[in-house]
Amino acid sequence: MAVIIDAKPLFQRIREEVRSEVSKLKDAGITVGLAAILAEDDPTSKLYVSKKVKDCAKTGIYSEVWEIYRHPPASRERELIKLIRELNLRHDITGILVQLPLPHYMDLYRVLACVSPEKDVDGLTPFNKGIWMSSYDPRKNLLPCTAIGILDLLDHYRIDVSGMLVVIVGRSELVGKPLHKLLLDRDATPVCVHRKSRRAAELIAEADMVICAVGRPPELCHVDPFKLTGDMIREGAIVINVGIRRDDEGNVYYDVDFESVCDKASYVTKNETVGYMTRAWLLKNTVIAARIFGEKLGREKIHQLNR
Ligand code: NAP
Repeated sequence: MAVIIDAKPLFQRIREEVRSEVSKLKDAGITVGLAAILAEDDPTSKLYVSKKVKDCAKTGIYSEVWEIYRHPPASRERELIKLIRELNLRHDITGILVQLPLPHYMDLYRVLACVSPEKDVDGLTPFNKGIWMSSYDPRKNLLPCTAIGILDLLDHYRIDVSGMLVVIVGRSELVGKPLHKLLLDRDATPVCVHRKSRRAAELIAEADMVICAVGRPPELCHVDPFKLTGDMIREGAIVINVGIRRDDEGNVYYDVDFESVCDKASYVTKNETVGYMTRAWLLKNTVIAARIFGEKLGREKIHQLNR
């Protein structure tokens, strides 16, 4: 029977640490503020954002939600970019989160490039990508929340990935690619498989760890469905679920069939576990971004005094 990886206690501890940091920043005259932008009227994205907003309220972070999906598709990207530029200039907003995925007709790279790197709490702007593609310090730099959150969780359970074959199902900008880089930095052998991968099943069957970040449950998707079941993994593998999909009725589906995987895996996440770590690191990143903003304000004040 597998050890069940649960992130809730760790999440609560991080949330408390963040609350105390936010209060210190407030005492120093810095408002910690997060703007979350919904570009698509999608139940899963709305669920994520509502949880993130609640976390902000519990830690003293000011937050606002922008429902850009109310604009028609033809003008939505333009409106989104206009909004991001306005938020970049505001002093009460120190973090900007564009909830992904974007609708297919929007250019992800063009949108992300507009977010000020100092407010990029998802760590996905070209500048921050450059940082995590080279050398970084998670206490000071803005790294993608889910990827760093998963590594934090593995550390918490003292799971050393060094030397492991880790198969990541999915290669998105948000999850798969940053996870691949961060795992490589920990001396794992990560492989991202995706829709075109010919040997995905073989690789999954060999893997020491399988991380599923797809979001295409067979219950909702007839094309390219994905669900990891116990018969697909090797005895003793570690299984991490990232994928979540919610339908309009509020039913939630995951990438991993928890029950069948439990019988074979050595460790398995509860299906909602990674969500807690993503939220924890969003809070942490929001504090890091506010600190960066505070330092910049301080430098500007010194610069003005010197003129
Ligand atoms: P995404 O941008 O849609 O990427 C999905 C990836 O899965 C793509 O690389 C896609 O391959 C691949 N894929 C699709 N069908 C597949 C199949 N049948 N077999 C193998 N690979 C397949 O999604 P994302 O932003 O990475 O998110 C993935 C899931 O994780 C979603 O359910 C999302 O809601 C969830 N998520 C959860 C958290 C959390 O905190 N728990 C955080 C972020 C995301 P191609 O590249 O070939 O299209």
